[in-house]
Formats: sequence, C-alpha cells, structure tokens
Amino acid sequence: MAASAAAVMEELRGSFREGRTRPAEWRTAQLRALVRMIEEKEDDISNALHADLAKPRMEAYLHEISLAKGACMFALKGLKNWMKPDKVPSAITTFPSTAQIVPEPLGVVLVISAWNYPFLLSIEPVIGAIAAGNAVVLKPSEIAPATSSLFAKLLPEYVDSSCIKVVEGGVTETGALLEQKWDKIFYTGNGNVARVVLAAAAKHLTPVALELGGKCPVIVDSNVDLHVAAKRIAVGKWGCNNGQACIAPDYIITTKAFVTELVDSLKRVLERFYGEDPLQSADLSRIVNISHFGRLTKLIDDKEVATKIQLGGQTDQEQLKIAPTVLVDVPLDTALMTGEIFGPLLPIITVDKIEESIAHINAGAKPLAAYLFTKDKKLQQDFVSNVSAGGMLVNDVALHLTNPHLPFGGVGDSGMGSYHGKLQLLCADPCASGVPEGEALAELSSLPSPVQHSRIVHV
Ligand code: NAD
Repeated sequence: MAASAAAVMEELRGSFREGRTRPAEWRTAQLRALVRMIEEKEDDISNALHADLAKPRMEAYLHEISLAKGACMFALKGLKNWMKPDKVPSAITTFPSTAQIVPEPLGVVLVISAWNYPFLLSIEPVIGAIAAGNAVVLKPSEIAPATSSLFAKLLPEYVDSSCIKVVEGGVTETGALLEQKWDKIFYTGNGNVARVVLAAAAKHLTPVALELGGKCPVIVDSNVDLHVAAKRIAVGKWGCNNGQACIAPDYIITTKAFVTELVDSLKRVLERFYGEDPLQSADLSRIVNISHFGRLTKLIDDKEVATKIQLGGQTDQEQLKIAPTVLVDVPLDTALMTGEIFGPLLPIITVDKIEESIAHINAGAKPLAAYLFTKDKKLQQDFVSNVSAGGMLVNDVALHLTNPHLPFGGVGDSGMGSYHGKLQLLCADPCASGVPEGEALAELSSLPSPVQHSRIVHV
C-alpha cells in the first residue's frame, strides 16, 4: 500500500503542477458533475446509508444528500467571487502602491472522513478542496463500508480522476497515506486519531483541519416553551443518527425543580416520534456496529448508571438497536459522564440554580457545540459571553450546521480550523501580494486572522 499511496500522490502532484485544477472552468465542471452524481444516484446513496446505519430515508435526504447538494450549489454560485483577489488598503510605508490578498490553491489535499455521516462528511471537504483549485484524495471511513465503496465506484464515473481520487481502507491504508507529504490534511473523527494525524502532518509541516467531537451540553431553563424545547432536543439527539452525531446533545443541565416536567415532556415527544416500542421503529437509525453497540450498552450496564434510567434503556443486539434513553443525575465520575457518548443515551444533570450550568460546562473540555433553551435574555447573553464552544445556539440544537454563511468547526479539544460555505476554501492560502505602482514597493500586508469559532444566537 505504501507504494500505491506514493503512486497516487505522484499522479496528483503531477496534475496539480500542470495547473489542471486551477482554472475556474475545471472547478465548475467538477462541482457540476458532483451535483449530477447526487441527483442521478440519490437512491444508491440512500441505500448505502441504510446499509451502513439503517439511516431512515428522510433523514438521509435531509441531513446528508440535500446538504451535500446545497454545498455544491453554494460553491458554484460563489466560486468566481471567491477566486477574486481582495483589495486591501495600502500603508503609508507602501504609498502609492496597491495591495491585495490573492487566494491560491495549496496543492494536494487529503480528506480522511468518519462513519457517522459518511456521505456528507466525505463529500463536503472534497467540494471545498475542488472549489479552492486543489487535487484531492478522499479516504472514506471503513466503518461505513457501503458508502465507502459507493464513493470508490461513483467518483471516477463523474469527476476528473487524474486530480480527484478515492482510496478505501482502514488504519493501515490511512497510515500509508499519512506518510506522504500533503499540502493540507482535513480529518474528521475522534481526538485520539487526530493526534496521530497531527503527528504525521508535523513531519512535513502540513497544515491540518481537525473536525472532532466532545460532550455537547444543553442547558434547559424553566422559563421556556417546554414542548418546543423537548421536540427540538429529540430531533437533534435521536433524529440525528440516533445520537451518533458530533453536534447531537450529549447531556442536559436543568434545575432540580424542573427536571420532572422536562422528563415528562421528553417522554411524550418520544412516544409520538417512535411509538411504544422504539426498537421496532423504522425512523430510528441503528448503532453502526457491534463494537459501538457494546461500548454503549456497557455505559448503561454500569450499576451506578442503570438505576438512573428514567426512559428507554431497551437494547436489541441482533438489530444493533438501542432505544432513546434518558437518565437523571448519573454520578459525574462514571464513563457516561466523562467521555463523549455518541449514541442514544441522554443523561440529565441537575443544579439548584440554572446559572450554575455555565460553570459546569466551563469545567470540562470545550465542546463542539453548546445549546441553551430559555426566554431569559440575560441568561442568553451570559451563555453566549461566557461559554466557549465551536458553535452555539439558543433555543434550538444542531441547526447551525446547515447555515453555509457560518464557519463550522471546533475549538480546543473539539478541533481546529473550520469549513462550510466560503470557508470551504480551507484549502486555499490567502497569499498577500503587493502590486508595485510608481516608485514604491509594497511589503506583505498582514493576513486576516482566521475565524476561530462561531457564536450564534438563534432565538
Ligand atoms: P472513524 O472510526 O470512522 O475514524 C475516522 C477516520 O480515521 C477513518 O477514516 C479511519 O479510517 C481513520 N482512522 C482510524 N484509526 C486510525 C489510525 N490509527 N490511524 C490513521 N487513521 C485512522 O470515526 P470515529 O473516530 O469513530 O468518529 C467519531 C468521532 O468523530 C466522534 O468523536 C465525533 O464527535 C467526531 N466527529 C466529528 C465531526 C465534526 O464535524 N466535527 C463529525 C463527525 C464525527
């Protein structure tokens, strides 16, 4: 595999050096081809997602297929403008020259993708790499094998395979790819592997984007439209791949006085969404494989945790299904409360006063997303000002991911770098260029600092 990783790199490096990926026409043609692929092969994509995760068809369409097509269309619409140099003011020291920031492709990009949204999380960074004029290798996750092999089959049918390639495989194949010198590595997955990726990138001084996870908290205040809050939490947790989503609520914080009402409301919503026996519901994704099923059931088999289950708790190993499960006041030192859950278990922890939630969140690692439900404007302001997370929403969950005008990414333990929309140009270097005019010679101007994370108030 090492030789073939080197051969893939050599071919793509050659294509990039020849300048094949740079023209707007090439980028546009590839993006249009991807739109065509998504439209013509929608059923195949949906079937692959069903094979990998029993992902309900509507969910597959809403959360993967339509978002991927939207990302292509957004890039197609913005591309010409994004490629234009940005004029910036001249400095007194460079007067009367002009200065501009010229975006340029980085070169050959490696995208290493995860299994939970195996179509969207693979194709969206590839769209970014293409839009920015790079050659790109996609390494989909071996844990979603149907989607991985669909990519390997479809991409060569639709896009220029001298510049865009799929390499399938697991740890060995990814390790071989990581030995190559890339111009950017875009990794989505867990923090442990991110450290492996970062170490490999360091050898070649390759820049990386790391899209990781964490424990995404949801604060639920009693001053709230509870039915709406419960529905939105349920959609963001169980309606997103049965909790196997990086921005799904990981745990709730509410007050001791309000917790019973909250659990009752979640119960009503869950019954309406998934019926009396959620394990038989076709609207609930399964757990991806037996190893993750075992990891999740072990979390609730813990004696200290099992007694705290208030809703759900049913499991079916044959179908790899776990019912939506709500737990209250699980000890904070159990595995359920210390690591990212990434599944259908939703613990609620209680505090005396809702304001204590912010200190609780800040005592842990910075999450990929943090959510608050309240009508209280002051609490909203305190939350947005005092919590640090990759993305934040007030009175909803997970939806920020769908706004292409917002950067999507983590901060601290939840990742570095961001993408989506114009930020798909993650694979372009804003290179500062001085254009001399008259006698003066412009110096490099300082670059705009990258956006670290988004703060969104959605009321
Ligand atoms: P995964 O097991 O699919 O691994 C991700 C990729 O890393 C795969 O392509 C895999 O082949 C590769 N890989 C695994 N072990 C490796 C190794 N030792 N060396 C090199 N490559 C290796 O996915 P996962 O890590 O289970 O994904 C779940 C995690 O990803 C969660 O923490 C979740 O929050 C996070 N996530 C983040 C985002 C985001 O956009 N921020 C999206 C989805 C998932």
